[in-house]
Amino acid sequence: MKEYQIDVQLSSNLKEKPAFDQLSFGTVFTDHMFIMDYTEGMGWHDARIVPYQPISLDPSAIIFHYGQTVFEGLKAYNTKDNEILLFRPDENMKRLNRSNKRLVIPEIDEDFALYALKKLIAVDKDWVPSVEGTSLYVRPFIFATEPYLGVRPSAQYSFVIILSPVGAYYKEGINPVKIAVEGDFVRAVKGGTGNAKTAGNYAASLKAQHDAEKQGYSQVLWLDGRENKYIEEVGSMNVFFKIDGEVVTPELNGSILEGITRKSVIELLQYWNIPVVERKISIEELFAAHHEGKLEEAFGTGTAAVISPIGELSWNGEKITVNNLETGPLAKKIYDSLTGIQTGVAEDPFGWRV
Ligand code: PMP
Repeated sequence: MKEYQIDVQLSSNLKEKPAFDQLSFGTVFTDHMFIMDYTEGMGWHDARIVPYQPISLDPSAIIFHYGQTVFEGLKAYNTKDNEILLFRPDENMKRLNRSNKRLVIPEIDEDFALYALKKLIAVDKDWVPSVEGTSLYVRPFIFATEPYLGVRPSAQYSFVIILSPVGAYYKEGINPVKIAVEGDFVRAVKGGTGNAKTAGNYAASLKAQHDAEKQGYSQVLWLDGRENKYIEEVGSMNVFFKIDGEVVTPELNGSILEGITRKSVIELLQYWNIPVVERKISIEELFAAHHEGKLEEAFGTGTAAVISPIGELSWNGEKITVNNLETGPLAKKIYDSLTGIQTGVAEDPFGWRV
């Protein structure tokens, strides 16, 4: 293994920790953060762990004006034996570099980034909650720091990792949610940045999400940006449907984010010999399947909620309910299996834990 150099400056003013049985999502941050800088000609340099603190940037920094930035999201879990587990973190680092390429951000050394992430978690290990359903959310991100007004890739960047202890996404366990199929706005288009984890995609999603919430829906189901016909994702999750015994998820097409939970669900289903296909699926086909009594289950997948069953779908003035607004047996089985592997209570036949 290579020798990696990270300077560590410990905080002399440790924060009071929140009650770990009352955590919400994304509001509390740990005592330290990782940061390193990139300068053209020098590469990535000055890797350091420092007390969690505000970042000072020039008002003309490229990130503020042109959104040249990428991020990742993953979780660390505390096991019964006080071991800290990560779930497929190498996949997050690979995706971070795929996003970097798309945004013309210099790539990072994935092994080093993972080493830095582990070292930061080790420094803040007392912040990894052990209450059931809780975890430490890890947010690596890279942003353009060069002061410059003009549309071109930045010559300077920072790579930062912050940590946030989080509670169960759904306090009463997994509950089916109501979803509005979005007929006007699109999240991403083929050839755009949909398959990169970059801020602009999320900014583009806010209006539809905001309007859907006002109508009493928790998320929107996104259709493709070209024909407004094929299903892409649900909120910021990938989406799966069980139709007549077969599990279908939209195929990766350049505008869908390649979720690590999505990939894991497909691999789990294959392991269980449950038929699963990645293909185009139109919203008409989905509603037709429901009318024929063939739509058995629908659920979203993502790091935050793991599995989020869909109980109701509204499209073109028609509302359909899936599995009587209850969590289906397949969604439950996948949820239990994935969270079991993630938290160390179940076997990990795939070697996904780190
Ligand atoms: N789609 C989008 C747009 C997302 O932001 C996320 C969350 N990263 C996902 C899907 C799910 O990806 P993952 O399973 O890797 O969390």
